[in-house]
Amino acid sequence: VREQAAAPSAARATATGVTHPDRVIDRTTGLRKIDLVHYYESVAEWMLPHLRQRPVSLVRAPQGIEGQLFFQKHSETRMPGVVELAAELWPDHAPLLAIDTVEGLLGATQMNVVEFHTWNSTVKHIDRPDRVVFDLDPGEGVAWAQLQEAALLMRTLLEELGLKSWLKTSGGKGLHVVVPLAPRLGSEAVKAFSHGAAEHMARTIPQRFVAKSGAGRREGRIFIDYLRNGHAQTTAAAFTARARPGLGVSMPVDWEQLPTLKGGAHWTVRTAREYLSFASGSDPWAAYWKTRQTLTTATKRLMR
Ligand code: ATP
Ligand code: MN
Ligand code: MN
Repeated sequence: VREQAAAPSAARATATGVTHPDRVIDRTTGLRKIDLVHYYESVAEWMLPHLRQRPVSLVRAPQGIEGQLFFQKHSETRMPGVVELAAELWPDHAPLLAIDTVEGLLGATQMNVVEFHTWNSTVKHIDRPDRVVFDLDPGEGVAWAQLQEAALLMRTLLEELGLKSWLKTSGGKGLHVVVPLAPRLGSEAVKAFSHGAAEHMARTIPQRFVAKSGAGRREGRIFIDYLRNGHAQTTAAAFTARARPGLGVSMPVDWEQLPTLKGGAHWTVRTAREYLSFASGSDPWAAYWKTRQTLTTATKRLMR
């Protein structure tokens, strides 16, 4: 897909200032840049709490998702409403970026951003994560039903450790299990906990789980990617679209919905709005924001 300067009607900015609104970004669905803009407009209210005050990395797809993708942590490209954070937050690096407003979300989309990834901490306590992420990555040959079961097993372990967790689709192949934390421990300690939990799963059910990265080991098994919990690591944010065929989205769901999911890209830019049940008042993650858990007891129990 080539950028065109031509066709005045199509290339002219719309009411929201979108250039090239009709450019197809995913040939498999025919979804256009304007469809992505409308998607982000429609979820902004629910997505922004997941972005606010948190370093964000962006995946840009200037030629559509089949073209080269640019993973961007710093402000190589100016985008209205995408702000630079204080340089001290990440010494020896260019300033990090954050998006706190609809303007920023749409300003990024206008600059062909498709995906939004965030740190596990906010600027207020940049060295103290406010969540742990278990990114369940299926290896070759893992059936979807096994991944669903894996998510439940992960939830069960966390419950035994006294931790509540929330579920979202990744928008890609897998699922993300997210544990909200009060920002107390440093990222090393949080990562160590997540590593311990992943190893516990891999030791208990070795035919199903692996806790070490490396494609060879994963065949037929699920890698519990605890590495998302390292300092300055990112995870696909809730509600982000994915720059993959079909434009799946990372959708927060209720645990009750797990059996009904058909895959990590169960919801897409095209179908997300029909799902958005929380528009009618039942946000499955509502309690996520009020939950302040610590890892003290959980770590002790895990070590036993
Ligand atoms: P899936 O369900 O298909 O696994 P996912 O979002 O969990 O989807 P992963 O491959 O498991 O995908 O995760 C890739 C992780 O690496 C993301 O969390 C992303 O934030 C991070 N990341 C770091 N650097 C890059 C980069 N240069 N390009 C893409 N992702 C990157
Ligand atoms: Mn993953
Ligand atoms: Mn991963």
